[in-house]
Amino acid sequence: MEFMSRSFASDNVADYFMLPDGKGIVALFSSNISAAFKARMRFLADDLSKVFKEEKSYEYLYGRCNLPLSSIIHDGHQGIILSSYPKEFYFKEGILKDKIQEGKWFCSEKLRNKFLDIANRGNWYSFLKAIKQIAAVLTILDNKDLILYDLSYRSILFNPVNGHIFLITWDSIGRNGIDDVEILPSPDFAAPEVIIKQGYWPNKQTIYSNRHALAVLNYMFLFHRHPLRGKRINDNDPVRDEELTIGDNALFIENPFDSSNSVDRFSLEDSQKPYGNPELRPYTLSGKFLKELFDRSFIDGLHNPIKRPTPFEWFIAAENSIGLLMPCSNPKCEERWFIYNNESSPKCPFCGTKVKGSYPILNFYTRHNFGNFISDNLRMVVTEEKQLNFRHIYNHCLSSIIQQDLDEKPYCLFSNENGIWFLLNKRLKDLLVYDGDDKINVPLEGKVELKEGMKLLLDNMSKERLIIVQMLRLQ
Ligand SMILES: [Zn+2]
Repeated sequence: MEFMSRSFASDNVADYFMLPDGKGIVALFSSNISAAFKARMRFLADDLSKVFKEEKSYEYLYGRCNLPLSSIIHDGHQGIILSSYPKEFYFKEGILKDKIQEGKWFCSEKLRNKFLDIANRGNWYSFLKAIKQIAAVLTILDNKDLILYDLSYRSILFNPVNGHIFLITWDSIGRNGIDDVEILPSPDFAAPEVIIKQGYWPNKQTIYSNRHALAVLNYMFLFHRHPLRGKRINDNDPVRDEELTIGDNALFIENPFDSSNSVDRFSLEDSQKPYGNPELRPYTLSGKFLKELFDRSFIDGLHNPIKRPTPFEWFIAAENSIGLLMPCSNPKCEERWFIYNNESSPKCPFCGTKVKGSYPILNFYTRHNFGNFISDNLRMVVTEEKQLNFRHIYNHCLSSIIQQDLDEKPYCLFSNENGIWFLLNKRLKDLLVYDGDDKINVPLEGKVELKEGMKLLLDNMSKERLIIVQMLRLQ
């Protein structure tokens, strides 16, 4: 194989060489690397990539993380091929120009305020899209019983404009119960049960400690503060205090039943506001779907790992929450989007502006055993950015359906033409619309105006899911 003759980086694992096309990297392992490490890499590069290639998820997965692509032998040295970080994950301007867009820049309010201009700080839309994609990647890996040993804001790259993510995973992934992965979790992401009196134990990580790391990451993306670092001092010795704060004595800073670890707002620097202060940006802003998962992660499941939500539950919650996103009517609002909470006269919780304009609200129903449609307690605020995906059409809840959902081709799109909202049918062969007494078949590539009280039977053949349209008209 041809690659650049000089390595561009080296560490105690490998020497790294760029492939001529700039899109790939060769990592040649150091001679002292363990046989177990080499065997794990061979499994990832050859066996695992082959399994994924046979499945629909390959493109999605390998476009969002740098799992080894294949193995090579060069001059007697074993190595692997990795994809290099896509260009979209480098800062294009500002103080951080040409640096990689590591998640850490977006997970701390202080760093956001100090280093990122407003256009590059991310917003609720881009963060929710990131959460959905991270959850999708972890669900696919979870289904193969793989554990990520270093899930943190350092192992995620994030594009704040479009919400794309890229996970740096190649050496920190292993098979549950088979591989010995000697990687310590980052302190902010270590689950309480992983930390014992002697400090961290790398091999104590499980799918449950992974779920804790995922919940912390999601919380930090949305609220730019750590969920367990509040005012409580657990020990006068700082090392022991740290162990207790994230270990045995860990307590959610927004625990509604115990405020002893809440944030002392008087101790915050200006650069930590507003997100550093949970009173100004409470976690309840994340809406009913995500709030429930944060409760299970940091209240019920903090010391009871089995109660923590799975990546697939985060995937569903993120998708449902994206549906609830409503644009703020204030063009100067820094957040731009917020989660709609069923109010008849919604107000942006960030800047206080009342929302103006008209928005169709879609209410979802699923047909149950006796043919009746029962409400799914699921709604969507229609905007031109939204679309109907597989799970909006078929209310299936098994994680195996995630592959259908990864198909980026939308089933329906929305457009606003001179103040009138339309649904555009892209892939539904049997879309039937009831408008009063009228029954309309909407063909592929056809469109229909969304009106108050209209009923949409999404797939007339399966008659599985129904949408009832409500119009929210705001002055
Ligand atoms: Zn606003």
